[in-house]
Amino acid sequence: MVRTAESRERERSAREARANDFRILSEENTMSTQFRKHSNTNTQQRPKQPRRQHPGRNNGPTKLEIIPLGGFSEVGRNSVAIRCEDEIVILDLGLMMDRYIEYTDSDDLVEISGRKLIEIGAAPDVNILGKEKKNVVGILLTHAHLDHIGAVPYLANRFDCDIHATPFTTELVRRMYEDERRHPRGRLVAHDVNDRFVLTDKIQAEFISVTHSTPQTVMILIHTPYGKVLYCNDFKLDNNPTLGPKPNYARLRELAGTVDYLILDTLYAEHPIKTPSEKIAEEMLKDVLLGTQSKGAKIIITTFSSHIARLRAIVNVAKMMKRKPVFLGRSLRKYVEAAQDVGIADFSDVEIVGYGNKVKPYLKRIKNPERYLFVATGNQGEPKATLARIVNQRLLPLTDNDIVIFSCKMIPVPVTIENRKRLENELQAQHVRIFTDIHVSGHGAREDHRDLLNTLKPKHIIPTHAEMKGLGAFKELALEVGYKPEQIRIVRNGERVRVK
Ligand SMILES: [Zn+2]
Ligand SMILES: [Zn+2]
Repeated sequence: MVRTAESRERERSAREARANDFRILSEENTMSTQFRKHSNTNTQQRPKQPRRQHPGRNNGPTKLEIIPLGGFSEVGRNSVAIRCEDEIVILDLGLMMDRYIEYTDSDDLVEISGRKLIEIGAAPDVNILGKEKKNVVGILLTHAHLDHIGAVPYLANRFDCDIHATPFTTELVRRMYEDERRHPRGRLVAHDVNDRFVLTDKIQAEFISVTHSTPQTVMILIHTPYGKVLYCNDFKLDNNPTLGPKPNYARLRELAGTVDYLILDTLYAEHPIKTPSEKIAEEMLKDVLLGTQSKGAKIIITTFSSHIARLRAIVNVAKMMKRKPVFLGRSLRKYVEAAQDVGIADFSDVEIVGYGNKVKPYLKRIKNPERYLFVATGNQGEPKATLARIVNQRLLPLTDNDIVIFSCKMIPVPVTIENRKRLENELQAQHVRIFTDIHVSGHGAREDHRDLLNTLKPKHIIPTHAEMKGLGAFKELALEVGYKPEQIRIVRNGERVRVK
């Protein structure tokens, strides 16, 4: 059919009207009032059933869809694309760390091509986007863990767009590029937690503050004229965080019943608990450090370098013990300096030895190691990290009653199990006291999922960040909460989900 000038004009003004409606709707005041109205009427209801779609409309072009790129039905290399008509945003670009370490023999970022990373299954398969790749208008990142941002320096430059994240995550990404001697193709744009920003006429994004095990973690809410998608990957509901704010419950309550799809971290959906607060981990640390006989002992603690709250707690206990805190290792320096640069934590009271080759001479110079509290990288027993080097190369000779504390959980994959076994064997051979699992998780468990579903009442849910067993456990919970099976979509990478 030949389109007349008149029909083209009609289409154009309809498009403009749609964009206008969206802009007006998006004004924060109007929006919150609407959400409040909505949430008032919805708070007591069961989750909405999906509306049966008109067959004609169902067959029409898809306006809004979710394209899983990595981390669906698996743990790691998290990434998802949201397509609204001809525009796409990518949320997270992470690495599958065990495959990455197995291949590169390093837990740090090394010189390797994005193509190779995709080939070995260590990075999200962005090739799924094919020709749509040119339509990507933004890459948005939830938090600074490598399973969410590790692939950025390798893959982001395939897209001609900016990278958006909170200040801490942005600073980390900037340092990752620097380490790799690469440059981002677009800008690195920092947004505060709980900010909402415009990406295009059709797409806006909102960073909703949530707790996890690294600072300034956010859920990302994508607003489009065709519906809302909320990406909550990773999260915990910590009501006593030791650094940063509580989850933004007020906003989640406002959004009740309005989110079309929730993409949710369900790593610990099998565990029938509420994940304890970080406050508990702080107490566990105090219990071990202040409550055991440590006088005259050398003490080394290892934890996740990105866990700024935990590191701060360790420094505080060191002071109570009148020991001097020293951080040893490159990634500790990277994360701690980033936290200081964006003003979320102060480590000016800590000495940081951030270069691998400086650790040995530094430790050699120390006369009274029992007056120090050492924090070292390598909590998973990585052979090249500082802790394994200290132990295996006897950079700090350990003897009876010296203490090594693992303030972390071992990630149960073969390569890590093997590394940790070797390291712990060596420590035992040196008669060192080992304390493992002085830790609480950064991931919510079954009872956190229940609370989140009851607060947010999303219309549909896509569980992610877990293997089939965990996803199944989550589905069971969602059914218990009142969802219908068709409202819970368990998908694999590449399996597109139509929202509208
Ligand atoms: Zn995480
Ligand atoms: Zn994660």
